[in-house]
Amino acid sequence: MRTKKFKAESKRLLEMMIHSIYTHKEIFLRELISNASDAIDKLYFKSLTDDKVGLNKEDFAIWIKADKESRTLKITDNGIGMTEEELENNLGTIANSGSFKFKNENKLEEDNQIIGQFGVGFYSAFMVAKKVTVISKAYGSDQAYQWESEGVDGYTITEAEKQSTGTEIILELLEDTDDENYTEFLDQYRIKSLVRKYSDYIRFPVKMECTHSRPKEQSEEDKEAKKPLEYEEYIEVETLNSMVPLWKKNKTELKEEDYKHFYTEKFFDYNEPLKYAHISNEMPAYNALLYIPSKAPFDFYSKEYEKGLQLYSNGVLIMDKCSDLLPDYFSFVKGLVDSEDLSLNISREMLQHDRQLKVIAKSIEKTISNELKKMLKNEREKYEEFWKAFGLQLKYGIYSDYGMNKEKLQDLLMFTSSNEHKLVTLDEYVSGMREEQKYIYYATGESAARIEQLPQTELVKDNGFEILYLTDNIDEFAIKSLRQYKDKEFKSVSADDLGLENAEKKEEIKAKEEENSGLLEALGKALEGKVSKVILSQRLKSHPVCLTSEGEISLEMEKVLNSMPTDQKVQAQRVLEINPEHEIFGKLQSLDKAGDSDKIGKYAKLLYDQALLIEGMSIEDPVEFSNLICELM
Ligand code: ADP
Repeated sequence: MRTKKFKAESKRLLEMMIHSIYTHKEIFLRELISNASDAIDKLYFKSLTDDKVGLNKEDFAIWIKADKESRTLKITDNGIGMTEEELENNLGTIANSGSFKFKNENKLEEDNQIIGQFGVGFYSAFMVAKKVTVISKAYGSDQAYQWESEGVDGYTITEAEKQSTGTEIILELLEDTDDENYTEFLDQYRIKSLVRKYSDYIRFPVKMECTHSRPKEQSEEDKEAKKPLEYEEYIEVETLNSMVPLWKKNKTELKEEDYKHFYTEKFFDYNEPLKYAHISNEMPAYNALLYIPSKAPFDFYSKEYEKGLQLYSNGVLIMDKCSDLLPDYFSFVKGLVDSEDLSLNISREMLQHDRQLKVIAKSIEKTISNELKKMLKNEREKYEEFWKAFGLQLKYGIYSDYGMNKEKLQDLLMFTSSNEHKLVTLDEYVSGMREEQKYIYYATGESAARIEQLPQTELVKDNGFEILYLTDNIDEFAIKSLRQYKDKEFKSVSADDLGLENAEKKEEIKAKEEENSGLLEALGKALEGKVSKVILSQRLKSHPVCLTSEGEISLEMEKVLNSMPTDQKVQAQRVLEINPEHEIFGKLQSLDKAGDSDKIGKYAKLLYDQALLIEGMSIEDPVEFSNLICELM
């Protein structure tokens, strides 16, 4: 018997395979089970037209057997088997896929469930085995053959004994090392969980003899004497895979519990999902199960969180978290997609750039968006719950990518309204706008309670207009990205032109400012470097002062931007507004008349610090502030 060498290019490929194509060694089992399933598929396909096969659909199965003593793992199928020539061609030349040929020769289009197509999966066995033996008897042949290899050096093919048609693959596992544990692949629980993880929906049963233990029957005397129970082991054949994927079942057969149970099991969430959708799409063809969790995972708003859906091709798990299937703003969605249309690449792992995948992703995005809109319309309470958990992510979505996705997301937004502190959508706000109302008003602050105290809200509220309370850091950035909604512009209650001032009042204030130009100049001078100007306010009613800003950056945005871990600090152009109707203004006027510029300076600082405190900002020099108060008291 002569050891045959692998063809040169195959040898190189094999080395590469073992060391780099796959990221997880455990997938060897998936590959071997997929091959076995393909082989059964081929014989099953024949059995439909050929009585000589002599097997019914339920006779087909894949068997796994682990033997700890000999450190071997055996995978057996009663599929089509391989002739000597096929062993030579399929396993002697790497990257020669028999399945690919079979598909082409038989022009399989319909009901084509064959998984393999690259001719490399088999070799993943060498990631965990030092020796691989394949004993196979082809359908219609009397002689079985054995293929044996210890890796890159080559392989032998000899005649062998085997009763029935099919293939048996025996892996002699590598010894454990410091970094790698191979023995675990002999553990029945590990095997079970691998089959469930990767091959749960292979459509033939994957069976294994599992060892369990049970208490032995006790005699009456032993029971009375309360003797401890003795245990005995027994063996039971179990089918490890569930075969028909939930998402391929008929929707009418499935109950809410089935979907919920599947979710908690599969995605390790103790909480039931808030919402699920079962989708069977035609163009592009895919089945999907999508879930919205009821709570944000603890790491959701951190860098550690990985978005993605599970991706299956014909019931075989290809990728656990395919991030390309979800846009960032829908990163909270969990679930899976199964498609037969994917052109898999060599390791069934890296198919990010697949065009088909992009088409599917687009369709999934649309589905999620529609589901959310439906929920908003029909299940308001649920939607608000969703919004509390994941609304932030949608607002980030509006702001990021230069506002590219705002149209898709704007109808999903909610903000707290000044009316009863209820959550409202932009659409609801706009439909509730009064005829004379020009803008969508908003106010920013750390909480609704805090915003209510802002002097700037007085005028808008007095006009009876609703205000949106923006309490998350991202809010104002999102609003600025939107600019407008249904032709209505957004307007901060701190903006200089609220569209409420009447012309008469404007003139009046203007005249007053001219009258007091000397005073305003002196105040501005005292606050040089802190504010860009001091003006008389048209919006204040009872409060003495408030702080607003000119230009693009608001005070709230300044706070947010400066809390980010960069060196660059920004400053809003601050404007100190003084209420000309307030007593304090009279006081300032008399100081101005008396020419007491020293006191005017002190008042200016105090008023500015007060305005800062009302805004929820910190004052630069608290000691000076407190000394000034004492002095003037
Ligand atoms: P692929 O499955 O991508 O075609 P593999 O390297 O896994 O590539 O397998 C190469 C070929 O060997 C398969 O296409 C198939 O023809 C044959 N083969 C592998 N495993 C079996 C099996 N259990 N029974 C019959 N043929 C098999």
